[in-house]
Amino acid sequence: MTATPQSNRYEDRLPDHMLQAGSERLADEQQDFLRSQALVYRFTQQELRQLCDIAADLAMWSADPIDRIWPELPEDQLGPKQRRQRILKQIRDHWQGLREQPAHYPAIPVARGYSAERIRRVQVEKDRLGLGWCPVASPRTRCCNLMTLDAVENCGFDCSYCSIQSFYHGDEVRFDSRFAEKLARLEIDPERTYHIGTGQSSDSLMWGNQAGILDALLDFATRHPNVILELKTKSKNINHLLKHEVPPNVLCTWSLNTPTLIANEEHLTASLDERLKAARRLADKGVVVGFHFHPMIRYDRWREEYGDLFQRLTDEFDAQEVALVSLGTLTYIKPVIKQLRARPEFQSKVLQMPMVEADGKLSYPDEIKREMFSFAYRTLAPWHDRVFFYLCMENQRLWEPVFGFDYPSNEAFEAAMKASYLEKIEQKRRN
Ligand code: SF4
Repeated sequence: MTATPQSNRYEDRLPDHMLQAGSERLADEQQDFLRSQALVYRFTQQELRQLCDIAADLAMWSADPIDRIWPELPEDQLGPKQRRQRILKQIRDHWQGLREQPAHYPAIPVARGYSAERIRRVQVEKDRLGLGWCPVASPRTRCCNLMTLDAVENCGFDCSYCSIQSFYHGDEVRFDSRFAEKLARLEIDPERTYHIGTGQSSDSLMWGNQAGILDALLDFATRHPNVILELKTKSKNINHLLKHEVPPNVLCTWSLNTPTLIANEEHLTASLDERLKAARRLADKGVVVGFHFHPMIRYDRWREEYGDLFQRLTDEFDAQEVALVSLGTLTYIKPVIKQLRARPEFQSKVLQMPMVEADGKLSYPDEIKREMFSFAYRTLAPWHDRVFFYLCMENQRLWEPVFGFDYPSNEAFEAAMKASYLEKIEQKRRN
């Protein structure tokens, strides 16, 4: 029964309140439960919103649902307002307690229903080339001034924490039919060194040479030896690169994570074995490779499993073959959190984390970042001074504690990165 304009009765306004609070995200029994409790405690609109967010998080984390953790309050002298506040406090404390604990991932992932079939590939004609500054760079973080080139828009993978889909068009992946022509016409300063990356708007290799994108990129790098072209990926699809000449100024870099996180949070992507095997094969072909640990995610077994991964990396690759290792972690803007909470039946633990406001975004507290990044850097000690290490999307205050050094400016960071990459590239040229 919808509220008539003149009705001020809480019962009559509740359906709208529930709707505004986003209750439709919840399972029916959760909605019914919250509605019944609202009639008892007469929660405000804002309190209902918070209860619905908490209920959505508990469902997403496969934790005990809100009706099972709802506190039993003793019949005492408390007035209705105090009772309501005590209920809310106990529920918030429970939710915050789960966020403080490192998440636990079951041996068999619970996530379901991820299918590449949902992706629709469409050809579009775009006016201009998607070349610009790194979309996630911020004046409040120490940044490398990367330029990004959008060869394809949207991604066919489905990583829980990724915000790409919130930028683009749901399940539609767009290939610009005139990408190769525009890239071929791009004029750049031959005296300047550029660091251009693909892999921000989509995965660089998962599409292979569809719409001629890899041919266009390899041709661009060949004609512009002053460009460091970085193809960033989570894919195993290296066939086209194995069959074609890859100029030395092309870096192929893999985003890596532990098998547990890949299985639970990086859906449809290549497994760790497949990614490392692809990197190994390209390195054997003489291509400079690199590795991004972004996001590193804190969970109960993070230290053992990241430790194994770092050890494996230094066992399977020589520092001379590797240009970079970047470290980063989960960082959110509010619209992305809202979007994740709105995904139906979404199973993920990427929001089960202690979250603080950090440099205009929401992320782990510094002490957790320092702990994870320092562990990573320490474990990769054999590569210190031989591979370029950096923090991505992080404030400069973390650099010194983690690396023992920092750069005086983003320009200095950029220059050091380019010099280090060019050294590996020149080495390849000489071979
Ligand atoms: S450090 Fe990371 S966020 Fe900053 S510009 Fe470079 S790639 Fe982008």
